[in-house]
Amino acid sequence: MKREKKDYYEILGVPRNATQEEIKRAYKRLVKEWHPDRHPENRKEAEQRFKEIQEAYEVLSDPQKRAMYDRFGYVGEQPVYQETESGGFFDDIFREFENIFNRDIFDVFFGERPHQEERREYTRRGEDIRYEIEVTLSDLINGAEMPVEYERYETCPRCGGTGVEPDTGYVNCLSCGGTGRIREERRSFFGYFVSERTCERCGGTGKIPREYCHECGGSGRVLRKVRRTVKIPPNAEDGTQLRITGSGNAGYYGGPYGDLIIIVRVKPDPRFKKSGSDLVYDVTIDYLQAILGATVEVPLPEGGTTMLKIPPGTQPETVFRLKGKGLPNRYGRRGDLIVNLHVEIPKSLSREERKVLEELAKKRGVTIG
Ligand SMILES: [Zn+2]
Ligand SMILES: [Zn+2]
Repeated sequence: MKREKKDYYEILGVPRNATQEEIKRAYKRLVKEWHPDRHPENRKEAEQRFKEIQEAYEVLSDPQKRAMYDRFGYVGEQPVYQETESGGFFDDIFREFENIFNRDIFDVFFGERPHQEERREYTRRGEDIRYEIEVTLSDLINGAEMPVEYERYETCPRCGGTGVEPDTGYVNCLSCGGTGRIREERRSFFGYFVSERTCERCGGTGKIPREYCHECGGSGRVLRKVRRTVKIPPNAEDGTQLRITGSGNAGYYGGPYGDLIIIVRVKPDPRFKKSGSDLVYDVTIDYLQAILGATVEVPLPEGGTTMLKIPPGTQPETVFRLKGKGLPNRYGRRGDLIVNLHVEIPKSLSREERKVLEELAKKRGVTIG
């Protein structure tokens, strides 16, 4: 990239060691002299001169920009690289690209950054906290209130989150000298490479506390144990996430609190097998109950039991479906409780039982033996 080199000292007609006062005087004289309104006959040239004078003054009147210009012949907002007579190594090129991509692109190519963006970096929202909570099937169905105990960062009560010891005030940041920006100039294959970034030490404000808060050590946050209850909604299922706004960690330097995210984990109940929102329960009855009919007790996931009537002559592996006695689905409607009925045939009989059954078989005309 080719750049026209401008000699700002020459434009203002001052020596290179001119004082700020001399620069200011020269500028005032020249802007009057070259004001385009005073040159109607060659307005274009006057406009050009006028702009150059403004530009030169803008740089030379700012000690930091002037120092930069003196060293490199141009200032940050100018193109990123400039020809140098020296060659370089391929290494340099790669390092340069690495820098470009690792670094904030905005910083590298545009130098200045809108001030507001800095503020946003500086005050940051607190982190979310994830918390797994184990509930029973009964909690899930009845919508329990669960106690939750966790640690989170809260805004430091002593400094109100600023990190500054009360009544001590601020001093200029030592890293950036109070500008809030760190400039870096590096030499590479392309020439000088200039980048600017927000000062990490002061977060771009240019100020650091004279004394850090004695309670939080300057972080603005303190770790606190929190106890609260969380209501498990009736439509929760395994893996449901409940977001409790503002119950996470305190923000940085006055930023908002993060959220508490409760992850509902359903404790498996060995009595039931899950099948979507249906639950499967296996029950085994005696063959005589299957033949003659019976009433069996079936546990319910919400607690308690229900009585299930087995009609006489019920076949083995009959499936009973107890409507609405399963788990709630995401819409809050409960699935079914499926009862699988198994019938147990005795492996051995007493002599008496055998006699009765043989008589029964003879009466029914069933061949045995
Ligand atoms: Zn504090
Ligand atoms: Zn700083």
